[in-house]
Amino acid sequence: MLRRPSIKGSHLIKRIVDEALDILEKHDPPHYVMICQNIKLINATKDTHKEGIEVFALMLGNGKVLLTNKLYNDQQRFTPQYLAGVLTHEAIHAIDERYKFIYQANPAKRERIAFENQLLALKLVKAPLWVIDETLEIQRQYVKKLGIDFIAAHIDEMERKR
Ligand SMILES: [Zn+2]
Repeated sequence: MLRRPSIKGSHLIKRIVDEALDILEKHDPPHYVMICQNIKLINATKDTHKEGIEVFALMLGNGKVLLTNKLYNDQQRFTPQYLAGVLTHEAIHAIDERYKFIYQANPAKRERIAFENQLLALKLVKAPLWVIDETLEIQRQYVKKLGIDFIAAHIDEMERKR
């Protein structure tokens, strides 16, 4: 039997997360199943502003996802559709972590797979065009940064070996 992730957070947060799962179940069943099978807990209680976390969500490992207050305090973005994309993205990382793909693959490539799934989910739940455009832009910047970091790490590694 499929079990939805448990949610730690306010009533409003629980309601929006539930609505995100409802629309995925209806319009994008494969990603819905993927989320239920790989995300156990969604925690939306920490004050991530204090910790300087700049992203909307983070995979904490062990099937736990952190939703940051940068996302749930953002009225324009904390919507069921936007969240459907974010949860799909984090479910890909949960799979990476669960099956240790993350240790084998190029991180920029894994990030690209997470964004591709997020974009597909956003299209299937009929997210507004600006959400899709914004996600494409975040992807472009993030993958570029990761790609550069990945190459930089390789150069460091090569220099250490010399
Ligand atoms: Zn990611």
